[in-house]
Amino acid sequence: MNSHRDQDDQAHLRTLSVLYVEDEDEIREELAVFLRRRVAMVHLAANGQAGLDAFTQYQPDLVITDIRMPVMNGLEMAERIRAVNPATPIIITTAFEETSYFKKAIDIGVDKYVTKPLNLDILAAALDKCARLIRAEAALREVDERYRLLFQLSHIAISVAAADGAAQRPSVLMTDGHIVDCNTAFTDLLGYARQDEVQSFRFSDLLVPEWLDPINRLIRDELLVRGFTSECEVELRHRDGHAVPVIAQLILRRDADGRATETWAVMRDISEQRRAEHSLRLAARVFESSGEAIVITDQDNSILSVNRAFSKLTGYSQDEAIGQNPRLLKSGRHEPAFYQQMWDRLLGTGHWQGEIWNRRKTGEIYPEWLSITVVRDTQGQVLNYIAIFSDISEAKAATQQIEFLAHYDHLTRLANRRLLEQQVDYLIALAARNKKQLALLFIDLDRFKVVNDSLGHAAGDLVLETVAQRLRATAREVDCLARLGGDEFVCVLHDVGGPPDVHAAARRLIAVLDDPIPVAGHLLTVTASIGISLYPSDGVDYETLLKNADAAMYSAKKAGRDRFMFFAASMNSGMARERELEHALRRALKLNEFMLHYQPQVAIGSGRIIGMEALLRWKCAELGPVAPGTFIPLAEATGLIIAIGEWALHEACRQNAQWQRQGLPAVVVAVNLSALQFGQSNLPEIVRSALQASGLAARWLELELTESVIMQDAEYTIASLHGLKEIGTSLAIDDFGTGYSSLSYLKRFAIDKLKIDQSFIHDIPDDDGDKIVTAIIGLAHALNLKVIAEGVETQEQLAFLRDRHCDEMQGYLYSKPLAVDAMAELLRGASLSGP
Ligand code: C2E
Ligand code: MG
Ligand code: MG
Repeated sequence: MNSHRDQDDQAHLRTLSVLYVEDEDEIREELAVFLRRRVAMVHLAANGQAGLDAFTQYQPDLVITDIRMPVMNGLEMAERIRAVNPATPIIITTAFEETSYFKKAIDIGVDKYVTKPLNLDILAAALDKCARLIRAEAALREVDERYRLLFQLSHIAISVAAADGAAQRPSVLMTDGHIVDCNTAFTDLLGYARQDEVQSFRFSDLLVPEWLDPINRLIRDELLVRGFTSECEVELRHRDGHAVPVIAQLILRRDADGRATETWAVMRDISEQRRAEHSLRLAARVFESSGEAIVITDQDNSILSVNRAFSKLTGYSQDEAIGQNPRLLKSGRHEPAFYQQMWDRLLGTGHWQGEIWNRRKTGEIYPEWLSITVVRDTQGQVLNYIAIFSDISEAKAATQQIEFLAHYDHLTRLANRRLLEQQVDYLIALAARNKKQLALLFIDLDRFKVVNDSLGHAAGDLVLETVAQRLRATAREVDCLARLGGDEFVCVLHDVGGPPDVHAAARRLIAVLDDPIPVAGHLLTVTASIGISLYPSDGVDYETLLKNADAAMYSAKKAGRDRFMFFAASMNSGMARERELEHALRRALKLNEFMLHYQPQVAIGSGRIIGMEALLRWKCAELGPVAPGTFIPLAEATGLIIAIGEWALHEACRQNAQWQRQGLPAVVVAVNLSALQFGQSNLPEIVRSALQASGLAARWLELELTESVIMQDAEYTIASLHGLKEIGTSLAIDDFGTGYSSLSYLKRFAIDKLKIDQSFIHDIPDDDGDKIVTAIIGLAHALNLKVIAEGVETQEQLAFLRDRHCDEMQGYLYSKPLAVDAMAELLRGASLSGP
């Protein structure tokens, strides 16, 4: 071991460079030979001054010098070398008689003395010793540098504070010492560019003040007791003022006498961790407080967590739900194919949403709006499913109520006029396909007005209810029964063999009504007159069949009541006129016979005009003015509406743009689109070109589509409405309430507004009207849509609408549809009197 170290020293000796200073040439040369055999490099000098020059030039590892020399003696030179380079070992060769120099040599800190005349063994030993010294020092320096590097490159922030004076008030002064050293991680942590910027601070200056007390306590209880503290969380102050959370540990360093010299603080930045914790807490808060139920499952679809809304909605507590499969909620109302489709789509696109029936813990089945999202890892493996749902029973009940109110007569629960029309259309299509006949029986009670006037409305209602019950009991399940209003009923028999069948049915109806009805202590005998039309002989559409049955009913009344009568062509003669009308309509566009009238739309809250509906008018040169109710259905039936509608769109945009250029207040113009137009795949281009040609900005155009049109083919509608929406126009559903609206579609259609059909507004303050209008307004607002009432004619209706927070209104009460000049004037007036 020892010899090993000697070898190392010898090896080290051979790498040294040595400066040898001696004025006697002979001794110098002799010793130079001796040195050159042992060391790597020997520099020679003949006096102190030359030695000093050589030292600065060559920076040798070791200096050997004589004392007495001309120009500058060896001690003076040694002193000067020490001043610039205190670590370089110096060996002095000296004769015994020169002991007077010893004192000075000791002061300078000379390392070795070798007496003259030189004994080479002794010199060699001295050289070895110095070599060892140099090697030890180099090793020390190496270690020091290595630690310094570690200190500097560490990601852990380290600061060193002086602990001087800590003896008196240890716990305070430990943090009171100035920062004497720190690493880059520390300056980076606190936003400083350089170390010296931090060195004017005390450690306590860099702490967020609240943390001073806890830190002092830690110093007292731990640092001073055992020399280091446990890890603790504290906050430092960043250069720009914000707090930087760190995990810190303090270490106390003492000198050889046990005096505290430095306090080291070793700190790890935990800002990221805090931020992550914060966003986790936030997500948890959102999760918990969401009004929608949320379920998170793992890749096997086993429930990991549910929120409060989930428990509230389903009745299952967290404990009951976790670990279960969401199948728990299955209602049994959907076919396996439904779930299969749902999963296919979910896994295919990562998302599914729709309406689904589920079951609460109580067993109650309810509809929910569900949307499921798949969460995958970076490799695409499923990690979780997140399902969010809300109970839509109420909204659903509202649409069902609207549907019921819109299609059934409240009093008798029979179909109403609207539903009748739809059913007859359907039955006609069926009969046409199967080459069958239909019979439409128009039933009108005889002298019902007398009952109403003499016994009162309640008695009248009772009679109507009883009649309805009897009709229902007589009719076959497959027949359709409706109340048109007042004392008018319709019964449609489908698949009749011929007039004899119809005779029998009509006689049965007359017979069941003949039985007296007990009302308010009286026994009333109620009779009816029935007019009958047959499909296809008396008409091939609902309108005609109804009109002709009505005409037949009148004939039955005229013939003495309490009887039925078949329609005969002589009863009216409408056909010829219809053909004439079609002929004229075909030429109307070319002859420029169309124009638009405008009916203002008003915000109920402010009373300001915010829009106007463009309504077609036709003044035929031959026939005079023709009502829209007459020519528009004809235009639809003949396909002419496509060209006419395009003209109306261009004209409405042109007029609105012109008014805006003239400085009239800007309002939206609403244009009606027919089903045929909506079916055109190039509709968006047509709309775009109308806007381009007129220079009207898209937001001033609204398109109206009827409910039945958009509900026909939902997928087409969704795409098509988006196409229109992209242009920037707004979209309204016209005549809302008369068709069947699916709630889930309404949610997905890109629409802005519902227009409540005027028939409901006219029914205000009637009980049915009240309910349905209130329900539609509620539905619109639940779907975040604006709602406008059409056909408002009375103050009472307006008050009702205002009370229900209906947004807008349109109707005779404010203004009839106006010709161009009158509309311009109205707008101008609005700008003058405007708020
Ligand atoms: P709509 O789109 O529902 O238009 C509202 C209808 O209600 C208009 O009838 C209007 O004059 C009428 N009206 C407005 N306020 C009141 C009121 O307070 N009381 C009453 N009783 N009626 C009121 P109009 O002008 O006869 O139009 C009838 C229908 O013709 C329109 O119903 C619309 O479906 C269609 N139509 C009108 N212009 C166009 C058009 O340019 N293109 C297409 N495709 N259809 C059009
Ligand atoms: Mg309209
Ligand atoms: Mg309408």
